Amino acid sequence: MCGIVGYVGNRQAFPILIEGLEKLEYRGYDSAGVCILKPGIAYGQTGSFEIVKSEGRVSRLKALAAEKDTSGTCGIAHTRWATHGDPCTANAHPHVSMSGSLAIVHNGIIENYQIIKEQLQKRGYVFMSETDTEVLVQLIDYYYKSNGHELVDAVRRALSRCFGAYAIAVVERENPGHIVVARKASPLVVGIGADTDEFFIASDATPMIEYTHSVVYLDDEQIADVRPGKDIFLTNLGGDKATVTVHEVDVDISMLSKGGYPHFMLKEIFEQPDCLRDCMRGRVILGDKEEDNRIVLSALNQCHDRLVNAKNIIIVACGTSWHAGLIGKQLIEQLCRRRVEVEYASEFRYRNPVIEADDVVIAISQSGETADTLAAIELAKQAGALVFGIVNVVGSSIARESDTGIYIHVGPELGVASTKAFTGQVAVLVMLALALGLELGTLDKKEYCRTITELAAIPDKMKKTLQTNDYIKDLAKIYTYASNSLYLGRGYNYPVALEGALKLKEISYIHAEGYPAAEMKHGPIALVDANMPIVFLATHHQLYQKIISNMREVLARNGRILAIVTEGDDEVKKIARDTIEVPPTLAMLAPLLSVLPLQMLAYHIAVLKGLDVDMPRNLAKSVTVE
Ligand code: GLU
Repeated sequence: MCGIVGYVGNRQAFPILIEGLEKLEYRGYDSAGVCILKPGIAYGQTGSFEIVKSEGRVSRLKALAAEKDTSGTCGIAHTRWATHGDPCTANAHPHVSMSGSLAIVHNGIIENYQIIKEQLQKRGYVFMSETDTEVLVQLIDYYYKSNGHELVDAVRRALSRCFGAYAIAVVERENPGHIVVARKASPLVVGIGADTDEFFIASDATPMIEYTHSVVYLDDEQIADVRPGKDIFLTNLGGDKATVTVHEVDVDISMLSKGGYPHFMLKEIFEQPDCLRDCMRGRVILGDKEEDNRIVLSALNQCHDRLVNAKNIIIVACGTSWHAGLIGKQLIEQLCRRRVEVEYASEFRYRNPVIEADDVVIAISQSGETADTLAAIELAKQAGALVFGIVNVVGSSIARESDTGIYIHVGPELGVASTKAFTGQVAVLVMLALALGLELGTLDKKEYCRTITELAAIPDKMKKTLQTNDYIKDLAKIYTYASNSLYLGRGYNYPVALEGALKLKEISYIHAEGYPAAEMKHGPIALVDANMPIVFLATHHQLYQKIISNMREVLARNGRILAIVTEGDDEVKKIARDTIEVPPTLAMLAPLLSVLPLQMLAYHIAVLKGLDVDMPRNLAKSVTVE
């Protein structure tokens, strides 16, 4: 959610900061700002801040900054996703302390900001914004003035008084050559340039890949002082020195561009066949004979006994990942005969849930930074359960907090509406259920091998499904008028209906409901009329005939049906007004194909409506606040 960028070194900071913000735009934001440190004329002389802030897009900020002197080799920048106060210029970051000494950018929420604000007001502090962030910078300033301008110490003292979540970068006017950063429950990465003579700061590694692949991920409650020419000075909130571990990130710069597509979302939809291959590489092993097929998951070896002996499995997730979790539930229950609950992490974390030490909690998150999911993990850990992470971003907080897990390895997903991460998550859940089912003896070896053959064939079948893109683009014209729609499916396709509806809502702003098809009779059927598009997932699987009955019920009420069907189907074609074909596969693999037309449909409807597909209003990619 939103983003932080910082730079200190010997290059001009401003272009690096602006390009960095542009690379973080995918995370979602409503305003942006930058602060460049201008050193004093003479050595040791106090410098000054050049601050530019604006509502709206980074392009606007850039235009405003063109009229200012933004030269300087140290600076911090921010895209804000408002939590406290309107998305206006006054509330945009950076915020400067009343004394003018410190400037801060912050992602997250300081929950007890109100009480701290009142205390500071009593001491004469005046506030220029409605944000919790300004309270934090004033609090740091308060300690800074009382401790002889020791910034790291002041940050430590201030943060020790704060509850909530933060990733911050702070600069000081009196000492312009360094940046102090800290984090708790909100991501922050420090990139090390050549020979430590420059440092990059960002919410994720995307903005710095161009310059360095050596990064340090801050842990919760760690504070780092980054100063060119010196090693990173890393301490925790208690003031103890912490070890700096440098990681090498393995992201190719070309992965961060649109590669000729008009939007990241379309590129990511079309990448799915390759992404699934990457996701399955080294894990789905096809033998010369089908009976030699196998799934290899290191997580299963690593925590074999705890996984095999799991009493209950609890999946915690949000949004699209929650939909993947619903598919995971069906897979694990069917293949492993274990009870699985799927929980919204945001509800789970506050419900005093029953978690036992022999349970396995599977946390699913594309970014690996989802605040609610992280909090759910914390509960699972307290209960002694095994935490199993399914995430995309390597080195993310959830990846680091998990006892074991499986990366989905689908590459950076920059479109706010998740596409390839969903199919990657489902593929990982299929592999997990297959491997665990075989281990538990609940899955017949023949079915295991057969399913692996089918799974390995999915990327090619995805490719074929994507050939319907032009047809769907035409079809989308008919459906652009809608203001409501229903998505209905059963069995493995029920979560796909939820996901299809979510995609449409997210990017086209058309209200859409996903429902189990048979539930329609218990309420939503009242909405059906000749204007209401109803998308049915009607592939040749479990309950196919029952889905047809559900379609007839809609038809009898003049509903306008668009159906996703298996190639060659002619029964549904007699009922539905429009159909989109997907290749045949097993029921449990159906979501991997049937979701693709729904992604394309949502995409084309949004484009036809002239909407910003990659950055839909009000949404953030990585939801790092609760
Ligand atoms: N809570 C802060 C604000 O509303 C930071 C929001 C963010 O993470 O961008 O300004």
